[in-house]
Amino acid sequence: MAKLAGSPDRCGVAILGSTGTIGRNTLDVIRHHPDRYRVVALTAFSQVEMLVAQCVEFKPEIAVVVDQESAESVERHLKSAGSETRVLLGADHLEEIAALSEVDTVMAGIVGAAGLLPTLAAVRSGKRVLVANKEPLVMMGELITEEARANNAILLPIDSEHNAIFQCLPEHFKVGQDIAQVGVRKILLTGSGGPFRGLPLEEFSTVTPEQACQHPNWVMGPKISVDSATMMNKGLEIIEACWLFSTPHTTIEVVVHPQSVIHSMVEYSDGSIIAQLGASDMRIPIAYGLAWPERLDSGVSRLDLGAIAHLDFEPPDPGRFPCLRLARESIESGGTLPTILNAANEIVVDAYLNKRIRFDQIPRIIEEILGIVAYSDDVTLEKVLEADERARASTLERIEQKYSA
Ligand code: NAD
Ligand code: MG
Repeated sequence: MAKLAGSPDRCGVAILGSTGTIGRNTLDVIRHHPDRYRVVALTAFSQVEMLVAQCVEFKPEIAVVVDQESAESVERHLKSAGSETRVLLGADHLEEIAALSEVDTVMAGIVGAAGLLPTLAAVRSGKRVLVANKEPLVMMGELITEEARANNAILLPIDSEHNAIFQCLPEHFKVGQDIAQVGVRKILLTGSGGPFRGLPLEEFSTVTPEQACQHPNWVMGPKISVDSATMMNKGLEIIEACWLFSTPHTTIEVVVHPQSVIHSMVEYSDGSIIAQLGASDMRIPIAYGLAWPERLDSGVSRLDLGAIAHLDFEPPDPGRFPCLRLARESIESGGTLPTILNAANEIVVDAYLNKRIRFDQIPRIIEEILGIVAYSDDVTLEKVLEADERARASTLERIEQKYSA
């Protein structure tokens, strides 16, 4: 339960990835509710100055930094600012702070598979876990939801679509439960179609990372922005929804909705469709996750429906966005194949952002990797980590040998 407003016993929050888009938005919501939330721990990969500023403002007990050089610099800056925040060095501490007894709520806001172990640690410690970081769910959503049940952790989806779906479900619905049990026959997963929805296919080979990162409606980190442009983000979200709502991918229909006003819909067996609408601002799902089952002022301006005027819908174009098919095929086969898909995607997106490959090569390389890396039907942590490592190595090798510009 969220601690009551005005209670001296404020809710302790740890933010994994506090310097990212999700992390900064979480701190912005908390900034407006100091009577309810207390920041216990912040973590970052390398953005020293921002982490220092966050520590000075929010006074967490602990800050975790992953690399040595950054840790020394954070420590030095904090000391000169008179801060009492303790700095811990190394990825192992991410798991440790996710499990701290002072922490009630963990925001999983790291990008990619790097968030897997800390997310799992938070779940195993029975925390309220706000899941923005979708990649761990793609890799082993079944195990994460099982562990949440076994340890009385509360999983709350923060990805805007999954948060919308959750908001459209009955109050007694628990994440990980089968949505058919509450009368749902379809999930309508909306997506804007990204910046290249209308771009002629022959121009896909020339789009730059700068263009790919210019999302029409959302401000996000570089990896998820590229995923949105290839629609791999929607593919990962199909898999994420399969586990959060315990349903096969065939129940999930992707609907391209360029305005990003409806964040997703749920179709019940009687034909009713319930939708959640709101501004394209992650502070809405974040505030929902922090306060659930209550509601909190997120600081987001009201949506002016008159100004929006039109809501459009269309099916996704499979020729333009092969990543949707690849994601469906990988969850259909199951086992560690979604992990391989995710790992290959992380490597190719990084190569694309570093201008080593072209945009149109992203799905091509992922498809090749899915065909060559051996997968296992067992989804244990060990098998998943092994598949992740193998897929990353194979993808790097493939890029080096066949694609490097
Ligand atoms: P971002 O790149 O802006 O921030 C990522 C954060 O993770 C940063 O604090 C960074 O320091 C940290 N980080 C990166 N690599 C790390 C590593 N190896 N070890 C430890 N920390 C590391 O990303 P973002 O846009 O905030 O997205 C975070 C997650 O939330 C992603 O999984 C994304 O898919 C998901 N998500 C984001 C949005 C959004 O609007 N930004 C919406 C839905 C879901
Ligand atoms: Mg999303």
